[in-house]
Amino acid sequence: MNKIYIGLGSNLNNPIQQLENALAALSALPEITDLIYSNFYSSKPVGPQDQPDFVNAVASFSTLLDPIPLLDALQNIEQEHNRIRERHWGPRTLDLDILLINNDTLSLPRLTVPHPYMLERGFVIKPLADITPGMLLPNGKTVEEHLHCINTTDLVCL
Ligand code: ATP
Ligand code: MG
Ligand code: MG
Repeated sequence: MNKIYIGLGSNLNNPIQQLENALAALSALPEITDLIYSNFYSSKPVGPQDQPDFVNAVASFSTLLDPIPLLDALQNIEQEHNRIRERHWGPRTLDLDILLINNDTLSLPRLTVPHPYMLERGFVIKPLADITPGMLLPNGKTVEEHLHCINTTDLVCL
């Protein structure tokens, strides 16, 4: 069984509803069990600022899916939500990123795990601390310890 952490994000077409729909779609997959998720947080966009605020959350679940079939399943859910992909780091209806798979390190053409930017993103670390504050991160700190080292001032708990 693989223990997975994912980040969810949306800043178009009712972001809260997008995240709720994505969580419902995940929990409906027979390959996924033990789904839990964090509070939802709004934050300023990374990259171009001329776009709506994001809503982000983190979820964890168990699955027997291997990494690439898991990525396929997440990308299917993104597509079902009619994700608009106009520009890199631009607005999107739904973004599902794999943050961690067990303690594995993967460097594949389609998949880098741990997610390369997760440690610097408040909108990842803050919700991660909701569901697993004591977990060790790739940098050797717990989520809660690392949370004190990054900027989370623009995050609002919804
Ligand atoms: P960022 O990775 O900075 O959050 P993004 O989420 O906007 O950027 P996407 O457009 O969603 O990037 O994804 C681009 C590609 O990244 C995907 O097609 C996927 O193959 C690849 N990718 C690599 N590592 C991961 C990962 N850990 N989770 C999800 N996608 C990944
Ligand atoms: Mg992303
Ligand atoms: Mg993505």
